[in-house]
Amino acid sequence: MQSMAETRSNGIGANRELVKAVAVIPGKANTIHLREVAKPRVEDVPGGRGVLIKILRVGVDGTDKEINAAEYGAAPAGDDYLIIGHESFGRVEAVGPNVTEFKAGDYVSLTVRRPGSSIYDQIGTYDMTTDDTYFERGINLRHGFLTEYVVDDPEYIIRVPENLKEVGVLMEPMSVAQKAIEQAYRIQQRLRVWKPKRAAILGASTLGLLSTLVLRLRGLDVTTFGNTMPPFLNSQLLEELGASYISTREMSLTDASAKFGAFDLILEGTGYSPLVFEAMNVLAKNGVLAMVSVTGGSRQIEVPADKINLGFVLGNKVAFGSVNANREYFETGVKDLSTAELQYPGWLKRLLTHPVRGLENYGEIVRILTEAKGSIKVYCEVAAIEGEQRAAATS
Ligand code: BGC
Ligand code: ZN
Repeated sequence: MQSMAETRSNGIGANRELVKAVAVIPGKANTIHLREVAKPRVEDVPGGRGVLIKILRVGVDGTDKEINAAEYGAAPAGDDYLIIGHESFGRVEAVGPNVTEFKAGDYVSLTVRRPGSSIYDQIGTYDMTTDDTYFERGINLRHGFLTEYVVDDPEYIIRVPENLKEVGVLMEPMSVAQKAIEQAYRIQQRLRVWKPKRAAILGASTLGLLSTLVLRLRGLDVTTFGNTMPPFLNSQLLEELGASYISTREMSLTDASAKFGAFDLILEGTGYSPLVFEAMNVLAKNGVLAMVSVTGGSRQIEVPADKINLGFVLGNKVAFGSVNANREYFETGVKDLSTAELQYPGWLKRLLTHPVRGLENYGEIVRILTEAKGSIKVYCEVAAIEGEQRAAATS
């Protein structure tokens, strides 16, 4: 960890209280480290609109792994480090004089994108920006949440009901699922009578599981595909939702479509981009394909271009991309998390497979992200949730 004196020589005033944060040096691989940074203050946000949040839990995912591998991510202007962590859950500690939306003690989650300058940014849909540069807390040009305290404007903060506090760390991945699915439904309004029956979710980890949940709550017949041979926790969780799990080692998406019928909605979230073209090839007539994998590589493949094109033209099909989520999708995410707790009690909690206790155990976070088999959600318990037992061990 950096010493206090060193941190102060980085331009932090001598009187500022310091807090711990997990950061990387973007552009340099494997630089994850613990450092001390100035504790944020309510006054850091102009107009008396600051909300100071004590971070309780932060989820991590493949994006964090890529950032630590220097494949992705950038530091805020003026800093050479980036505090990582974009899946947040915390409790309001203090609010500025002009904040009516929150009070101390409220449980909350924060959105990730911050506004740029396009017309989409100006209407609160930062997730739809057309700017070349996008700002994302914990990912690109803005510090993230893997720290003890953060401050922000109410615009970027979503209230999480106390009854969801144990699973509140799922808010951000849930918002990503919400956006992709809601966008698919809005696009399909072009059809006037679209009544999707069958959906395929490609990928059975956190995003795939939550997307399956959202579509099961909407009443669809869902088949979720993954690599692993069943039975395992993810396939059990899917079956408890009334969805089916297929390992692509046993049956491909193409074979499953031929055998059981074409899918009206396909969501590709595996990170393996060739599957997008396989999905395009088998999508039902009038169907919709949502692409949500952030693939930083440069893979090249050959595809049956005429066949895919002909199928799209003659079948009036749509494929679209979806990234991030604005507060609207966090708000619908809260509703679906609440319904899920009522309809499938205890199901969400079982996604939280790998807690890591304390920011100082950041090495364990990296190890689990790279090596652990059978993990669904890996997250850091930054501080204890009131009235709850914390994980005894760090693995
Ligand atoms: C995050 C999104 C983000 C995307 C691209 C994902 O891991 O969950 O919020 O927009 O990465 O940076
Ligand atoms: Zn993410």
